[in-house]
Amino acid sequence: MSADTTTPPVVEFRGVGLTYPGPPPVQALNACELAIGQGEYVTVVGPSGSGKSTFLNIAGLLDGPTEGSYFLDGIDTGTLSDADRTGLRGRRIGFVFQSFHLLPHRSAVENVMLAMVYNTSARRGREQRAREALERVGLGHRTDALPTRLSGGERQRVAIARALVARPSLLLCDEPTGNLDTVTAESILLLLDELHSDGMTLVVITHDPEVAARGQRTVSIRDGMLSEQVTAT
Ligand code: ADP
Repeated sequence: MSADTTTPPVVEFRGVGLTYPGPPPVQALNACELAIGQGEYVTVVGPSGSGKSTFLNIAGLLDGPTEGSYFLDGIDTGTLSDADRTGLRGRRIGFVFQSFHLLPHRSAVENVMLAMVYNTSARRGREQRAREALERVGLGHRTDALPTRLSGGERQRVAIARALVARPSLLLCDEPTGNLDTVTAESILLLLDELHSDGMTLVVITHDPEVAARGQRTVSIRDGMLSEQVTAT
């Protein structure tokens, strides 16, 4: 997808910092500038303790910066009430975690449907969309299986379907292949490549250089500071 100059960046950090109050206070992010355009695939790397989780929490609207501003799709998130921020997160951000976070006693399709809490449409419509999302990730044949009957790679596909079903602007992935063997990890990375080709904006946090190299751009965090690395695609 070519860059669209008429729409604002999906993610825009303007001087974003976060200081945990402590004591002692810890400045986990410091004066971060970042713009991620629609359809970009950005990876975020950094050693343990560098601020990756803090970055994820801010980008995912789970936490607000203590300094600077975060614009999501051009919306200054600092001006929103907690309820509005929660609503925006539910509609615009899909999360994928290392450990899947599926409900074990709900089927794949039910797990995906649970992501549509902000969707007021009838149950049948939601179920249809959940089945389509599972088909999109290659799990159309396992929609009624419980997570305990699925492999690690299949569970991550359910989690990706759940993240996609509300049609978010941003897919935020935290070590999405961290619990998977190499072959399964590659199949999940190929799925992320496909989603990127379809126009999804992806941010993938990882400590794995091979995963980091899949992005169009890599941002590194060190001691709470962001810096850009230019990678060949
Ligand atoms: P990473 O995810 O890269 O390991 P974090 O974002 O978790 O890094 O942490 C960045 C820094 O902030 C670290 O020094 C960490 O100890 C500190 N930190 C993280 N969470 C808290 C917290 N709730 N209170 C105080 N300090 C914290």
